[in-house]
Amino acid sequence: MARINPLAFLSDELNTLKEQGTYFKLRVLDDEQAPVCHFDGRKVINLASNNYLGLTTHPKLREAALEATRKYGVGSGAVRTIAGTMKLHMELEEKIARFKGVEACVVFQSGFTANAGTVSAILGKDDYIISDELNHASIIDGCRLSRAKILVFRHKDVAHAEEQLASVANLPGKKLLISDGVFSMDGDIGPLPGLCAAAEKYGAIMMVDDAHASGVLGRNGRGTIDHFGVHGRVDIQVGTLSKAIGALGGYVCGTRDFIEYLYHRARPFLFSTSHPPSVAATCIAAFDVLENEPELIERLWSNTRFFKKELGLLGFNIGGVTTPASETPITPIIIGDGRATMDFSKALFEQGVMGTGIAFPTVPEGKARVRTIVTATHTEAELSQALEILGRVGKSMGLIG
Ligand SMILES: *Cc1c(COP(=O)(O)O)cnc(C)c1O
Repeated sequence: MARINPLAFLSDELNTLKEQGTYFKLRVLDDEQAPVCHFDGRKVINLASNNYLGLTTHPKLREAALEATRKYGVGSGAVRTIAGTMKLHMELEEKIARFKGVEACVVFQSGFTANAGTVSAILGKDDYIISDELNHASIIDGCRLSRAKILVFRHKDVAHAEEQLASVANLPGKKLLISDGVFSMDGDIGPLPGLCAAAEKYGAIMMVDDAHASGVLGRNGRGTIDHFGVHGRVDIQVGTLSKAIGALGGYVCGTRDFIEYLYHRARPFLFSTSHPPSVAATCIAAFDVLENEPELIERLWSNTRFFKKELGLLGFNIGGVTTPASETPITPIIIGDGRATMDFSKALFEQGVMGTGIAFPTVPEGKARVRTIVTATHTEAELSQALEILGRVGKSMGLIG
């Protein structure tokens, strides 16, 4: 008897995506992650990566990875708590803690596991989480894993966050107030001073996810806590090593006891193998670069100012009226309809610009967009050419006048 495929329903789901125009094939990078590179054999100006400072190909990071591989091999061989803690892992954690000006730091395999592992380790079902509606999926998953009650506040609305805190103030259980430092799909910055004040007023734990702020905002890229000068007021700082830092990983910063607790209880730390030595060494070298080559961050911001201004002049909706305006190198071109967004992205690609279309469920229904990110390593000529293509394709598709 022919076996009936129990996964056949997934093909139906994919067909629905195809009908909606939001089905995609993965674009495959042929060469290095660089400002101009080849995807699927086509040369494009790359406005889609999180490689803010160009560190994915920085010679010092490349050399650090090679040297660590020669010295220590390619893998760590175990989870951190069994036999997989190498000197390089400890050195990286100490380096990040010093850089951030905190007591201690723990490195996870990714920013995703850092968020999910931390929230679920410190809270339980009798606790409360007060969370911005646009917080990253890894925060949302961490909240769900913790089984705490989740109260969502309107995006960047401090008064609403405070209302939510007040509504549970007299109930037993811990309270955690949590926000992205920079929101990944809109590029706007979380209102940290107001949120810190609200957390302090209600005795809540304050947590910030600085994935898109690390290496981008604050002195030498120290993030939003440094940008706003709210040192000592954020109990839990999360960052990623996968974006501006150029490699892979996530980290959590805070007090020594908090970090030691995560060593004992954070499940991705306990149950998933630690980074290969090459990754740890790469990240150590990246923090040296942040400290010693501030011109990279300066170039990132001058490119950002140039590109944002010109993109706005072309007449695209880059946020600001019904959606937040970006204040960082992330600039969304908001189209609205999922299919129109994917068509726009595809046409841009054919004309030589890589700008990924992002639709539901990554962003809310009706808020689909092509997200652009400029980096320190784009030349002004490359950005001008990208703008010319964006304008031409936008006009031909009737997206701008
Ligand atoms: C990208 C991102 C993460 C996940 O980081 P990875 O290191 O890629 O797993 C977490 N939070 C936010 C806000 C992000 O943008």
